[in-house]
Amino acid sequence: MGAAESPESQNNGVMLNQHPNIVFIVADQWRKQSAGFWSKEPYRSAIHDAGDPVHTPNLDRLADQSVVLTQAISTFPLCSPYRGMMLSGKLPHRNGVILNCNDQRPASQLREDVICVSDVLQEAGYSLGYIGKLHTDYPTPNLPGKKYATPPLASGRIWDAYTPPGPKRHGFDYWYSYGTFDQHFNPHYWDTTGRYHEPHEWSPDHDAKMAESYIQNKKGQRKEGAPFGLWVSINPPHHPYDQCKPEDLVPYQGASWEELAVRLNVDQSNDVMRNQIKNYFALVTGVDRAIGRVLNAIEEAGLAENTIVIVTSDHGEHMGSQNLTAKNYPYAESQDVPFLVRCPGRIAPRTDDLLIGTCDIMPTLLGLAGLDSMIPDDLDGSDYAELLRDIPSAVQRPESVFFFRNINAPVDSNGKVHDFITDFIGVKTSAHSFWISRKVKNWAEVGLYDIVNDPYQLNNLAETDPVLRAEMVEKLRAAIPVRFPIEKLHPEVAARLNAAGE
Ligand code: CA
Repeated sequence: MGAAESPESQNNGVMLNQHPNIVFIVADQWRKQSAGFWSKEPYRSAIHDAGDPVHTPNLDRLADQSVVLTQAISTFPLCSPYRGMMLSGKLPHRNGVILNCNDQRPASQLREDVICVSDVLQEAGYSLGYIGKLHTDYPTPNLPGKKYATPPLASGRIWDAYTPPGPKRHGFDYWYSYGTFDQHFNPHYWDTTGRYHEPHEWSPDHDAKMAESYIQNKKGQRKEGAPFGLWVSINPPHHPYDQCKPEDLVPYQGASWEELAVRLNVDQSNDVMRNQIKNYFALVTGVDRAIGRVLNAIEEAGLAENTIVIVTSDHGEHMGSQNLTAKNYPYAESQDVPFLVRCPGRIAPRTDDLLIGTCDIMPTLLGLAGLDSMIPDDLDGSDYAELLRDIPSAVQRPESVFFFRNINAPVDSNGKVHDFITDFIGVKTSAHSFWISRKVKNWAEVGLYDIVNDPYQLNNLAETDPVLRAEMVEKLRAAIPVRFPIEKLHPEVAARLNAAGE
């Protein structure tokens, strides 16, 4: 029996059965472009570049039932910082996750005292489950015998962390999770009581199995009659790309590199990517199958009508675009994420170019759940629920969305990092992407692209269109969040921003 059919019950004045369930599915390193529906109408006309030739039948079906956002971004396109913002609605320096979490960075971990979306939902009477990758904790030797959760990688760095029951779990009362561990065929998890599991199953398949069980509530994982919030955090299509299932490679057998690498900003001579793109798309297809299983479980349990489903990703993947691999760059392939919201009866299926960032997720989710009165008033994001519902609203549509990234501040004598420096900041509007960066790798210190007519970001207008550049500097200044720690800007970035304003 789902929340919709349950008898009314009272908790802190909130009528429990008025609030929908939430299933939040977040994959890792899955770029927006890698979804099959972009290659057909009406989606094809809603974007300016080409969708990847990927096979995602479940996602395509979900798209037809959802509002499909075309301009959603990962505000700081890296694992841990995204996850900290997704859970807390606050910028990294306020939620604690200032950098990617590993044993070099004791300063980067989700604060126990920050109020997360799950803390608010728990207060509202929800049952809460977290399945899969978390990656917001500092790895410490916190297992029996004072061991680390997972031995160091070849680099000597320890990444995985065990999150013990208690305040670090932020209201999630059902737990089946790990920090970060990239062996897709040999994943591991710790459960609600802290027991360790090695299921020897491809991780998205196992995540889906555990999510199905939670939704069916066969083992009493959640309170019957109460709404639930379930986070399903899938590790693929994160590398290693060759850890895909052979069955998922079938749709790509026989396709040439040119047929698969459709983005015009891909360096065709990059042999690494030439070997990997099939595998990346196969991982996406496997993730799609896992998503399909979760969607089917929701439908079979009779919960589809009263469950908000969100499907998104923590950041994208370059796969050779701009001669870069992976993520954490100011370009679209890093930044743009899939974002589908299904909420029958509340949200009409369509595409929408809402400029939404990571800190907007928590307030918007609470707004969609009818809990807007419980949204903390000190968040760094906005509640766009009424815009997603497309109802008359006093909420203004944002004209831009801010993005940035942090890097390590200098290390101490033990090689540990205790602080961060922000080495690029930028703003995206529906027409342009603009950033100011430290000189790094092969991208421009000042990037300015017309993302409608030049969606592959091949023609930097920063030096050729001074009028537009001045306009974008003003838009960037206006988009910097009120609580953004501007004093942490890398000196080169601060100097360029100040010079641009003169
Ligand atoms: Ca990630």
